[in-house]
Amino acid sequence: MKAKIRVGIPRGLLYYKHKVLWTNFIKELGADPIISPETNKEILNNGIKHSIDEGCLSSKIYMGHVDWLRNRVDYVFVPRVASYSKNDQTCVRLFALPDIVENTFYGIKLLKYNLDIQNGKTEKVEFLKLGLKLNKNIFTVISAYKKAKIRQLEYEKGQEARQIKLLENVGKLKILIASHSYNTYDKLIGFPVKHYLEKLNTEVIYADRVSKNNAIKASCKISKSLYWSHNQEILGAVELYKDKIDGIILLTTFPCGPDSLVNDLCIRKIKNIPIAYILIDELQGEAGMHTRLESFVDIISARKGVTRCR
Ligand code: SF4
Repeated sequence: MKAKIRVGIPRGLLYYKHKVLWTNFIKELGADPIISPETNKEILNNGIKHSIDEGCLSSKIYMGHVDWLRNRVDYVFVPRVASYSKNDQTCVRLFALPDIVENTFYGIKLLKYNLDIQNGKTEKVEFLKLGLKLNKNIFTVISAYKKAKIRQLEYEKGQEARQIKLLENVGKLKILIASHSYNTYDKLIGFPVKHYLEKLNTEVIYADRVSKNNAIKASCKISKSLYWSHNQEILGAVELYKDKIDGIILLTTFPCGPDSLVNDLCIRKIKNIPIAYILIDELQGEAGMHTRLESFVDIISARKGVTRCR
């Protein structure tokens, strides 16, 4: 039997947003998606080695995941996502991603698509072009895209519905982690924050488990001129949830240009709710972060007149 083509997907950046679409599309085409492991110190250090100093921590981690995959698979999946609509744009590090990877790892074989609505590159057409590289049957490719897209949308709806239920839970303090999905769910960046908040008996609410369209509309109440799509979604989630939560954690990796502006905007515009700004860098230790989270939860508890049990 012919061996399946192995397509490596780096567990970083937009993987956390589009993972259901990507993995199902590759599977439906008869190839084997291989996801790099959870971020660990070795992946981080290799990512740092293969990045410029000025890169943000999230992109350095991504490079570590590419490095882990590159000699284990036939292709590494590195899309270029530049804009989702005529009115937005992603961070420059995201739309330069395939070029950065190809210029860092010479000879690496990439599978890529180019989502850029501002320049007429739609997701469907780009996926069909990409799919034909793995499977020559156009009908199989069209069907793979449709099935993968439906599963992604169902996954997102399910996540949102579960979170709405959590918001109805009146027993616990609710804290929104306002961050990019790739920071929130990364084992070294957001996981320790989430884990410690849960240990402090709070309910963690996520900015990416909300309808994307509703979030983008809501973000206009805070800023009409913001054009970074992923920051629009985070800001919109803050606006949508602000009356249902007890505190907000702005979780950012160093040095992130979009977040530094948007976090400042958020702090100035969102009143009457405690906000903590946590900036994670390569040298981050957990002890300092625990102290900050404990103080933050203490402040919220005192404000609500809640006694916190440890
Ligand atoms: S938005 Fe910030 S964290 Fe994300 S890739 Fe750009 S600089 Fe890095």
